[in-house]
This record gives sequence, C-alpha cells and structure tokens, in this order.
Amino acid sequence: MQTADFLIVGGGIAGVSAVARLAPYGRTILLEAEDGFGYHSSGRSATYYHFGIGKSVVRGMTAFSRAHFETVGANGTALSRPSSALFIAPPEMLAGLDALEAEMRPYSDGLERLDADAVRAVVPVLRCGGDGIVAAVLDRTARRLDSEALQQDYRAAIKREGGRSIAGARVIAIARDGAAWVATTAAGDRFAAPVLVNAAGAWCDGIARLAGVAPLGLQPLRRTIIVLDAPPGQEVRDWPFTKTAVDDFYMLPESGRLLACPVDEVPSEPTDAQPEEYDIALAAAKVEHYTSLAVRRIGHSWAGLRTFTHDRVPVAGFAPDADGFFWLAGQGGYGLQTAPAMSAIAEALITGGIWPAGLTDWGIAPAHLAPERLGVGAV
Ligand SMILES: Cc1cc2nc3c(=O)[nH]c(=O)nc-3n(C[C@H](O)[C@H](O)[C@H](O)COP(=O)(O)OP(=O)(O)OC[C@H]3O[C@@H](n4cnc5c(N)ncnc54)[C@H](O)[C@@H]3O)c2cc1C
Repeated sequence: MQTADFLIVGGGIAGVSAVARLAPYGRTILLEAEDGFGYHSSGRSATYYHFGIGKSVVRGMTAFSRAHFETVGANGTALSRPSSALFIAPPEMLAGLDALEAEMRPYSDGLERLDADAVRAVVPVLRCGGDGIVAAVLDRTARRLDSEALQQDYRAAIKREGGRSIAGARVIAIARDGAAWVATTAAGDRFAAPVLVNAAGAWCDGIARLAGVAPLGLQPLRRTIIVLDAPPGQEVRDWPFTKTAVDDFYMLPESGRLLACPVDEVPSEPTDAQPEEYDIALAAAKVEHYTSLAVRRIGHSWAGLRTFTHDRVPVAGFAPDADGFFWLAGQGGYGLQTAPAMSAIAEALITGGIWPAGLTDWGIAPAHLAPERLGVGAV
C-alpha cells in the first residue's frame, strides 16, 4: 500500500492543476487511467479563454484565472497569447447579441460593437448584410490558451514539490479503511490517503459510485470539431475566435487552417468520444451557411466530452455524505479557462486556507460551487 496526504483521480487539466496547488502541503499521488495525461476532454478543446460562455460564476472564475494565463510556463513557453473573440449576429440573433454584450461587460474592458462592414474587415469570409451577419461584438481581452504548455507547467510544479503522477493507473475500486480512502487500480496497486479528490471529468459520477458516494447527476455532452483548409490566398492566423451570439456555430484559426464547430451537445456516456458523420456534416453545413467558404475537403475531425451539472456551474467542495471525498467536477465547456480558479478553490477548501480575495471580488463564495446545491442523492 502506498500512502499519501492527497490522492487525486484524473490527469486532465482539473487533476493536474489541483495537484500543483496541493503538492506544497503534503504528499500527493495523481492516478490517471490512460497511458498519457490530458488524453480526454483536456486534449480536445478549442483552447480559448473568453467571456462569451457560462453563467456569472463561470465568468468570474475566468476573470480570476487571467493572471495565471499571462505568465510564462516552467519551460519558457507562454501559457497563452492575446487573441480576440468575435460574437456575430444575423438579424434573428440581435437580441441575443445585446444580452451577451451586457453579460460580458462587467468582465471585459475590451468590448467593441461592429457593424457588418467592420465585421467583414475582420473576417473577410463571413456572409455579412441582408439576412447574414449584421452586427457583432469584438472582445479584445480574449486569449488563446496553450493546453500542452499548461499541462506541462502544472506537472513540472508537481514534480518540483515531490508529488507523484502515475499514468496507466485506472482506479477500479475505492474503499474506506479507517480515516483513509483506499483506491485500487486495474494492475492491483493500492493507494491510500485521507483526502481523495475526484477529478475524473466525465467519469466523476462513476468514481463516486465506486466510493459509495451519491452521484451528482453529471451529464457528458459530446462536441465535434472539424479541420478545414484556409481559403486560398488568405492569411487566417490573426482571425479571431468567431462565434454566433446565440449558440449555433464557431470557427477559429489553427496552424494556418480553420477549425469549425456546430456547437453540438449530444448526451453521451463517459467514453473515448469519436465524431459522428452527422455532426461532421452539420459542421460543414454551418461553415457554408455563415461564410462564403465551400467545404470540399475535411482534413480531420475530433470529438470530446463537455460534462455539466444541472445548473451548468462546476462543483468544487467536499461531499456532504462522505468525509474526505472532494468533488472537482462539471467543468463543462470552460474547464481550461477556469482551471486556475478551480484549483485555487480546491486548495483553499481542502487545506482550510483563506478563500481567494480575487474570487470574493467577483462575488464568488464557496456555496456557489458546493455539491450541496445540486441536491446530493437526488439522482
Ligand atoms: C470540443 C471541445 C471544445 C472545448 N473548448 C474549450 C475552450 O475553448 N475553453 C475551455 O476552457 N474549455 C473548453 N472545453 C472544455 C474543457 O476541455 C473541459 O472542461 C476540461 O478539459 C475538463 O477537464 P477535466 O480534467 O475535468 O477532464 P478530462 O480532461 O477528461 O480528465 C479526466 C481524466 O480522468 C481520467 N479518469 C477517468 N476515470 C478514471 C479512473 N477510473 N482512474 C483514473 N483516471 C480516470 C480520464 O482518463 C481523464 O484523463 C472544450 C471541450 C471540448 C470537448
């Protein structure tokens, strides 16, 4: 039996960021089922930081996280770079654009309203005017995150503090032994600690069931991204992350090509998500609807799971029905951009430390993220 002070299940961004914050307080062991870290949702994201998503708690955590993303990682790589977000509206989405602008305004001092001509100047392929895009809001405070650099930076911090990260360690059983949680892996190895952090993404409810803890009713939703060639003769590198004001479509540049997403939310079991033909075709159809691009060839596509609570606000807090079992779950479509906040929250609640003043400034209190609000045992 290997013992620690903190046992963390899940080596996505939630798990590694939490361990990086906990490692200075004691011995940490991170268990990841796959052979590498960040294989599931954390490795399949669009890697954007923007305020066009989530409720006020999510936007507040996003704003809090900014300072971390503006730093340079352990290996000298920037964790993010400035990159605008453009929220576009055809006539039927104008009310949605007004509402979105009002919701973003407290968090961004870089908002600018654009008319159709200005939108065309920013992203020339967008269909503007008439029943096409008639207005947009440009947010100059958005950023492109480097998920690989983030993962590496957090894992370097864990290593510096003597924490252990073990890949290929799928937890298949969890039992209580006195004051400790004991996790057993598929290989038969056993790990014990008084605190178990459940950071298993889409599998969090399953981990709770293994431990005899009431699940929260988390719902994984599949989302698809396709990769397209850039239009001939166009330099797309500086195009913004472009998203409809009401959830329907987004597009962004990536290494000289374009990524496009039909903003699909298909309920799924926790699984190694794969793109479905229908969603790939839908993505292509939406590219042709919102832009002048003809989709002749889809270079590549992928899908990933975004896992939500009922109220679409993540969960960070000890389970009310099990001592030492800490939920770090339901990061939905914002797990990267909120990871610095979620991990700071985990640190404060697990170690009994001070609640970060920066979160209080954004009106965020522990109760907003507590599992109790979801009615434990209600599902
Ligand atoms: C298409 C797409 C676009 C997105 N775009 C953005 C974006 O632009 N910005 C943003 O902030 N977020 C975005 N997200 C959301 C973001 O990717 C997620 O919120 C985040 O990655 C969740 O991280 P996680 O660590 O909770 O989950 P995961 O990365 O899935 O990690 C959970 C880990 O737990 C492990 N695990 C599961 N069961 C066990 C077990 N029994 N034993 C050991 N380990 C186990 C899994 O193998 C997995 O590695 C996007 C997601 C998708 C799919």
